Amino acid sequence: MREPLPSTHDLAQRLGAHAHVSRVVATRPLSSSLTEVELEGESASLTGEPGNDVMVLVDQHGTRMVRRRYSVRSVDPAADRFRLWVTTGHDGAGSAWARRAAAGDEVDVVGPRGKVLVDPHAAWHLFVGDVSGLSAFYRMAESLTAPRQAIVVVEIDHGDDALTTSVAEGVTITGVFVDRRERRHDDPEGLLRALAAVAWPEGDGHAYVVGEFSVVQTVVHALHDRGLDADAISPKSYWRANRANLDHGEPERDAR
Ligand SMILES: Cc1cc2nc3c(=O)[nH]c(=O)nc-3n(C[C@H](O)[C@H](O)[C@H](O)COP(=O)(O)OP(=O)(O)OC[C@H]3O[C@@H](n4cnc5c(N)ncnc54)[C@H](O)[C@@H]3O)c2cc1C
Repeated sequence: MREPLPSTHDLAQRLGAHAHVSRVVATRPLSSSLTEVELEGESASLTGEPGNDVMVLVDQHGTRMVRRRYSVRSVDPAADRFRLWVTTGHDGAGSAWARRAAAGDEVDVVGPRGKVLVDPHAAWHLFVGDVSGLSAFYRMAESLTAPRQAIVVVEIDHGDDALTTSVAEGVTITGVFVDRRERRHDDPEGLLRALAAVAWPEGDGHAYVVGEFSVVQTVVHALHDRGLDADAISPKSYWRANRANLDHGEPERDAR
């Protein structure tokens, strides 16, 4: 395998992460909106813990490097492989990369990234967002041990995006899939209505909210109103409606 580009090395050093080149093993369409990309190489140092993501160099034009962050869906340490679930239902640099990726392609990867990990003290875990969050949600839910509870509330564009998973014995998981219908991607109404119908289990809970920028903000307010403290909510905006993410992978924020 070749060495990562110097800019990938520099980035990893700045972030306190690792830089490696991984090889695409396979891609598989999972649903109308999601494609799985399986990579091999350096999985032990890149993939971190459930909730972590990797930063992939998806495009470059001269000195312009376009990177996108993808949560790690699963890791196979014996085969030194890991999987990403990439949204491919829109046109963007990351979705184009996943659509054209082919076995044998080599790609610069920086990881592990991300600070949102499973709260070890919570009795129940609420995962809220859109299909871009399923990868992180399911890796985190699969890592829970009995007697914890996971509730997954996800808005989907197509019926076949309602992908499911299984969790450890003694852990209960409830999935609520909300049909987006004609609502815009920055309209939080579907998720708010679904959340209003979910009763919180007993004990302390932790909510993980990811997806479209303004939807994440509105959902966080609604969860506060339902009594969850700020330290019991971990929000992360993944993308922003009608705006491409910045080249370093984060959604654009409004100027203050
Ligand atoms: C910490 C972190 C973890 C992430 N994990 C994942 C992950 O596991 N899987 C994943 O798919 N994404 C994930 N994302 C989002 C991902 O990094 C990209 O930003 C996103 O996929 C869009 O990149 P793009 O280059 O395809 O589109 P962009 O070039 O960013 O956007 C092009 C256009 O597509 C629209 N668009 C972008 N994303 C979507 C979408 N999901 N649905 C509808 N329209 C969209 C934009 O509004 C824009 O108009 C994560 C982001 C962060 C910050």
